[in-house]
Amino acid sequence: MVDIAIIGAGVAGTSVAALLSEKFDVLLVERNQYIGGRAATRTPKEWGWFNSENYLFDFGHHVAATNSYLEYLLRKTGAINFLDFHLIKMPLFYKKGRFHKPPATFFESLRAYPFIPFKSKLKLRKFQKWVRKVPFKEVKEKWFYRPLRDLYDEFDFDEYGRELFTEGFAAGYQTIYDIDRNSAGDLILCMKIFERGVSKYKTPLFSAKGGFGNISKAFVRIAEENGAKIQLGKNVSKIIVKNGEVKGIELEGKKQIEAKRVLFTAPVYFLIDLIDEEEMPEDFKKQLEEGRKESTDLFLILGGAKKSLTKKPVGTWMLIPRSEVKKVDSYYLVYELSEDLEQAPKGRYAVSFAVMPERNDLSNRKFLEERMIDDMSEIFVDFDFEKDWEWKTTFYFPIVDGIGRTIDWYWEKRIGPTTPIKNLFVAGDSAQELSTGTDGVASSVIFAYESITGEKILDLDAFYTL
Ligand SMILES: Cc1cc2nc3c(=O)[nH]c(=O)nc-3n(C[C@H](O)[C@H](O)[C@H](O)COP(=O)(O)OP(=O)(O)OC[C@H]3O[C@@H](n4cnc5c(N)ncnc54)[C@H](O)[C@@H]3O)c2cc1C
Repeated sequence: MVDIAIIGAGVAGTSVAALLSEKFDVLLVERNQYIGGRAATRTPKEWGWFNSENYLFDFGHHVAATNSYLEYLLRKTGAINFLDFHLIKMPLFYKKGRFHKPPATFFESLRAYPFIPFKSKLKLRKFQKWVRKVPFKEVKEKWFYRPLRDLYDEFDFDEYGRELFTEGFAAGYQTIYDIDRNSAGDLILCMKIFERGVSKYKTPLFSAKGGFGNISKAFVRIAEENGAKIQLGKNVSKIIVKNGEVKGIELEGKKQIEAKRVLFTAPVYFLIDLIDEEEMPEDFKKQLEEGRKESTDLFLILGGAKKSLTKKPVGTWMLIPRSEVKKVDSYYLVYELSEDLEQAPKGRYAVSFAVMPERNDLSNRKFLEERMIDDMSEIFVDFDFEKDWEWKTTFYFPIVDGIGRTIDWYWEKRIGPTTPIKNLFVAGDSAQELSTGTDGVASSVIFAYESITGEKILDLDAFYTL
């Protein structure tokens, strides 16, 4: 019998194992032979993308917000001591033929984005000041379940401001970018996090040297030091529930492990296949089925390049709005990894280009790739998209965020951390969370931990007071 069986060794499972193992007897079970889930780092050969072993690629591309939930967990557990925490330069926004750096100071904000009329800049400045001051409680009460459009209208943003925020800021933080569906509250909180990061480090982004997967590995190291047991390559085929209460887990091959509590950390709708039909509450099942439809996706070209995308290596994220491209109806997220991360061999560059594909686009992926390359060739004029690759591949990722943070699925409308089944908890990027990607995952871990232990570890009002 264990106190807590955690299913899944992604960022959620590994970080919560590090936290909970300080107090409880923890078992962490992962079906893959490797740690890190969607944020793991492996060679292209291990991913099955290309026969190359001298690059280290995150599954997709990964950076996280500085001075936010994930960093809080890294510091609280001590996992930060087992990785090379690496700051990444300010992300860039492409407009009118050049890349622009977001402003970090008042004077920079007046000079930044020369394509925006001065009057609009003052409005954006006013908005930014309001974001700094507005208390978490007010954001929660007034903005969580209202769309971005309401926020833009309230602050009288013109088309430039709307684009900068929707396809620059929100796209970078939220994966989806529909101003009638994305939560205004989410944008406000992401901006607060941006401010927290920039004021501490002058940049809102970090990763780990050698790959983002080293973050999960560092959490596992702490969990193991605390006595947690980790089992890789073990698929949980069933969560044993009797009379509405969790009793343990069953591994493929029918081995059963008794557990006082089970914490599920993969996309929550996978639970449908793990719980016996007669023990699954009908409303909960419906909610999970609806949630499954709301996962967000990306299509990526990724690979190793013989030279950097521009004359001087960029080494950060680049956001390109749809108004600047012609062939694919999407914004682009482009990432050229900093050489300091040591994920590409010397003199080579790990790069990726992501779009949010339309259903039609996916029916002919070769054609989508060609159009993406046409678009990118116009922007990265120094990069020869035929000759400058050492290798490349394309990949469609159907679950980038477990559930997108729309007004219908924000905060308490999400699932967890408790469930209608006694002693079954959930965490991860489809559970209740307050930030983006792996940082949102980290927030869900804090909420799950607080719910399991009854101990409050983070005061949200203080956290969002700048
Ligand atoms: C292409 C792409 C780009 C992304 N870019 C970013 C980014 O730049 N920044 C960012 O912060 N986030 C990014 N994300 C999102 C981020 O990867 C996820 O939000 C995060 O990794 C989810 O972590 P998790 O622990 O909740 O889930 P997962 O990482 O999915 O972990 C769940 C684990 O559970 C295991 N599992 C599932 N079912 C079972 C079972 N029955 N038995 C045993 N094990 C099981 C899985 O194998 C997996 O390892 C990106 C995602 C993708 C796909």
